[in-house]
Formats: sequence, structure tokens, C-alpha cells
Amino acid sequence: MKHSFILLIAALSIVLSACSQEESTSNTQAAIDTNKTYNWKMVTTWPPGFPVLQEGAERFSDNIKAMSNGRLTIKVYAGGELIPALQTFDAVSQGTVEMGHGSAYYWAGKVPEAQFFSTVPFGMTARGMNAWLYDGGGLELWREVYKPFHVIPFPLGNTGVQMGGWFNKEINSLDDLKGLKMRIPGLGGKVFAKAGGNPVLLAGSEVYTALERNTIDATEWIGPFHDQRLGLYRAAEHYYYPGWHEPGTVLELTVNQRAWDSLPADLQAIVSNAATAENLRMFSEMEHKNLSALQELKDRPNVQIHRFPDDVLATLKKLTDETLMETAANDAKFEKVYNAYQAFRKKNDAWSDISENAYLAIEK
Ligand code: CA
Repeated sequence: MKHSFILLIAALSIVLSACSQEESTSNTQAAIDTNKTYNWKMVTTWPPGFPVLQEGAERFSDNIKAMSNGRLTIKVYAGGELIPALQTFDAVSQGTVEMGHGSAYYWAGKVPEAQFFSTVPFGMTARGMNAWLYDGGGLELWREVYKPFHVIPFPLGNTGVQMGGWFNKEINSLDDLKGLKMRIPGLGGKVFAKAGGNPVLLAGSEVYTALERNTIDATEWIGPFHDQRLGLYRAAEHYYYPGWHEPGTVLELTVNQRAWDSLPADLQAIVSNAATAENLRMFSEMEHKNLSALQELKDRPNVQIHRFPDDVLATLKKLTDETLMETAANDAKFEKVYNAYQAFRKKNDAWSDISENAYLAIEK
């Protein structure tokens, strides 16, 4: 009798100690001050109201407000509303604002290797980029690259494969590119110059007028949806694909390191998962808007849609490889990311060849 009483006490004390452990766990969680609110600012590189991209950044902010029950609010400013569009990275780095939305190749002047985290000519599409960034070590490398700037990056959207651009004449051979004045920024522009073209830098707001007035002979922009919205079909009739220079541009969320560290764990988890959700959401919306706009452009009598000739694409590819290798040879940081990117891309290409590419190549 006495023995079983002792057993009962022992059992009870185990139950009680389990209870107190549970209590202390919930006490730790309760240590997050749910009355504390965080009111942040986000600046973007997009024009005010820019469809899909600026809208997506705003939806991301709305979702965080809803999921955090208003504990984290993010006021989103378009490019130029608070600071100039291309100062977004610096503003986040310096902590002037807590968040930014843009694309990593905008900072190529400061961080050349960042381009691999948005897009490079003849690089990976959205599918490969997501696999690399989320699961293939890409995101860790990206965070390492931005660490000296006190910036934490997250993928937040993708344009999908862009279009090759609008041309005021047909492109039948490499000779047709010689001396051609085209608005094509970044690495694509460098490659275009190597092919004998004349790349021109123009802000989005100037593109239509320049093409319409023949100040330039050609321009790339994004894809059917945004291109149609800018009215480019009224300024040139030859619309080329594929967008060899931007095969799946990743958009980025940047967060100031100190601001991130100040967030409790639950709000960090909300931001991180809202970013992953919006990454898919923006890409899907872009694909849908593009497939609808392509149909509308096809129905316009003055629009001619062409594929770039094979030899033109092959030469641009060769010149891209040369450009990347030359840059890597002179820049150890660029070389490190280039090697990681290439190693993943090789495996990704081998898999794509017998999965998505092989499937899509079936005559339907
Ligand atoms: Ca573009």
C-alpha cells in the first residue's frame, strides 16, 4: 500500500513536471510582445502602379499585415516616391528604409556577381532559378554576397522568359544587328555590342518615344503584357523571341539586417513565408497576363512575330560565354558565383533535357 502510494506520487510528479515544462514553453512564446508593432517602409524600383511588379510588392505588404494581425505594417513606395528607383539597394543597406523590391542586376555596378541572382543571358529559366535558390545553395550564396552590405535577399517574383524585343526591320542574319541601335541594358547589352550592335541605355519612360521617332531601331522591354501596355506595337512591327538576354529574371526582396534582427521569430517566419508565396504568385500572374496579351498581339494586323534565326542565337550564346568567362577571369567574387551557377545549371540542363524540354518538344 505504502509502496503504491510512493509510485503514485512519483507518477504525479512526472505529470506535474511535464505540465510545468509545457507552461514554461508557452511562457517563452508569450515573451513575444504581441502589443509591439513594427511600422516599416519598402521602396521599389518600379513606377507607381506598375502592374504585376509594384502591385505584387503591395500585395506582399497586405498579406504580412493580415497574417501578423497588424503587428508588422509595410508602407510601399514606388521608385521616385521616397528615393530614386536605383538607390533602393543603398537605402536598404544604410537602413534608411527596412525593405526594398527590385532585381539584383540593377546593382551590377556595385556588385557585379549579383547579376547571377536575377538573370544572365542564356541562363536558367524561373524553374531552374527557384531550384537553385531554394534548394541548390543559391540563396545561401546570395546572402553571403549581400552580407557586407547588411542586406538579406529573398526571391520575390519572376518575369518568366522575356521577349527578344521590337525591331523596325527583320533580323535575318548577324549582319542585320551591325550598327543597330537597341535599348538593351546590362550583360545583354554588352553581348549585343560584341555582336556589332549599338546598345543604348534608356529609362522605361523614354522607350516608346525613342522607338516611335526612330532615335533607336529596336528595344527590349519585358513580355507581351507589359510591351503591349507600353504601346510598342505602334512604334515597330517586328516582334522577336525568345528573350535570350533575360530568360527568367528573378525579382528580389531586400531586408536591412538590423531591422530583420529586431523582428521576433514569428514575424520573421511570416515575412519569409509571405516572400515565398509572393514569389510564385507574381510569376503565375505574369505568365497569365503574357499568354492573354500574346493572343491580342497576334490579332493585331501590323504585328509580325518571329523567332531569331538559329545562327544569330548561336553567336549571341558564344559571345555570352566569352563575356562571362572574361569577367570571371578578372574578378574573383564574380568567378565564385559564376562557378556555382554553372555547376548547378549543367545538372539542371541535363534534367530539363529529358523532362520539360523533351515533353514540350512532342508534336501536339
Ligand atoms: Ca527586359
